[in-house]
Amino acid sequence: MFFRNLLQRRYAIPSTRKNNSTIEQLNQNEPGPLISPPNDKKFVRRRELLVQQLRERGIRDEQVLKAISSIPRQKFIDTALESRAYEDSPLPIGFGQTISQPYTVAAQTELLKVRRGNKVLEIGTGSGYQCAVLCELGADVYSVERHDGLYQEARRCLTELGYRPKLKCGDGTKGWSAYAPYDRILVTAGAPVVPEELVRQLAVGGVLVIPVGDQASQVMKRITRVSEDEVEEESFREFKFVPLIGEQGW
Ligand code: SAH
Repeated sequence: MFFRNLLQRRYAIPSTRKNNSTIEQLNQNEPGPLISPPNDKKFVRRRELLVQQLRERGIRDEQVLKAISSIPRQKFIDTALESRAYEDSPLPIGFGQTISQPYTVAAQTELLKVRRGNKVLEIGTGSGYQCAVLCELGADVYSVERHDGLYQEARRCLTELGYRPKLKCGDGTKGWSAYAPYDRILVTAGAPVVPEELVRQLAVGGVLVIPVGDQASQVMKRITRVSEDEVEEESFREFKFVPLIGEQGW
């Protein structure tokens, strides 16, 4: 593990409603096939360098690194910023939002421990880049974004690249109950608390990764639903995300 697990505790889920919904048999997302987009050649070397940098920073999950080495990040941002696509930094995507820093994407995905075929819910589609990483890992991906403009643009970009996640525009702090429970839930915006509804939509044995704190910085938390009414919580290092806005957010 690239960063120390700072704290671990176990507690009961407050007012748990039994989650009896059966997992729907949906067509599983085929990752890709990723057809190299035009003009991608000049970015191949930059992606290799980025992956090298992520390794140096402690990312160890080869599947995650492989996904990052094959996704054209420049496609998820404005063409005016293309030359900065492989800097290890967040970049603006409009509406005051950002595409997460590659290190943050890698670290969150590594913590999530995604297995091929996992049903994964992402909150905060944003540019769609993190969503593409989850698709590349062979997950069956559901992603919710609150800004209609970002939702539309992410849908266009992901479709163009051959990914087939299920996307929705709405308040992700309430999850996406129609398809619950999920094996994995990833929140890519900073939350004031862990939204209870997300824990309820987690399958037993499922994992939720979410940054929790104030608006200046958040601690990365990994919550594992160990039984119907108990979760285990681990805390990792601090990050800085844009705020999670909604009924169970800011
Ligand atoms: N995963 C994204 C990161 C985008 S930043 C990427 O790879 O680009 C976080 C995103 O969360 C923003 O787009 C923001 O609009 C969105 N967001 C904030 N609160 C939300 C909510 N309650 N439901 C859904 N999306 C939310």
